[in-house]
Amino acid sequence: ALRVRDIVKSFGPQRILDGVSLDIERGKVVCILGPSGSGKSTLLRCLNWLAPPDAGEVWIGDERVGVREGPHQRLQPRPAREIRAQRSRIGMVFQNFNLWPHMSVIDNVMEGLISVKGIPRLEASDIAAEALRKVGLAGKHTAMPAALSGGQQQRVGIARMLAMAPEVILFDEPTSALDPELVGEVLAVMRALAAAQTTMIVVTHEVAFARDVADVVVFMDGGKVVEMGPPEQVIDQPSSARLRQFLQRFN
Ligand code: ATP
Ligand code: MG
Repeated sequence: ALRVRDIVKSFGPQRILDGVSLDIERGKVVCILGPSGSGKSTLLRCLNWLAPPDAGEVWIGDERVGVREGPHQRLQPRPAREIRAQRSRIGMVFQNFNLWPHMSVIDNVMEGLISVKGIPRLEASDIAAEALRKVGLAGKHTAMPAALSGGQQQRVGIARMLAMAPEVILFDEPTSALDPELVGEVLAVMRALAAAQTTMIVVTHEVAFARDVADVVVFMDGGKVVEMGPPEQVIDQPSSARLRQFLQRFN
């Protein structure tokens, strides 16, 4: 579904991503592990153009995204409309939920459907209700975000993304802002999405989750992919010292 080739991204003189490539097939789950500062968030931000890559290719199916027509296949500034369209195909769920505080739960979920996809209100509310049902929040349509627990807020964040029906959903440490007792309910929703063949890339420190759910585990360090493969290989039999050391912290 998504092919990423040789992504390079620098901030100032610092090269944060140094030629990252990965593939994710439709219906599969890729989990990305790696130490703080290894470039995991930057990679996800490159994929949906929150941080436009300096070089490299992003393909959805056989369509290359992020490249303007022209003589030099250069990555150039793109119209906002085009970037919004890309983000509705490659959606992202954030660590801090990023809900609209002044909007009810269902309005949060409907917002992108109406403003980005141009779906009429009535139809948008049906789609939003279905997404909220999938995350176990069918009873919370009219609640305001501040009245919800962190776990519930994150589930609204996930519903908002699901409603947009993206081809790939990117999750950036979706549980790391939560109190420990609320992590489980969000991971349970993500397990259900994985079981329903949702295509997802998940940056996480939840190694047990990655072990169970991932089809492919990617270990990043220093802006590069150090290891990549099925969890039985990457997590159970890491071949690099760096990954062994990283995993020790979770045992
Ligand atoms: P963590 O596990 O802590 O979330 P990460 O792997 O997600 O780490 P990134 O957030 O991608 O790491 O950051 C990688 C490096 O890029 C860090 O050194 C960070 O300071 C730097 N960086 C990220 N975003 C920017 C930015 N907008 N401007 C300058 N430097 C940045
Ligand atoms: Mg990060």
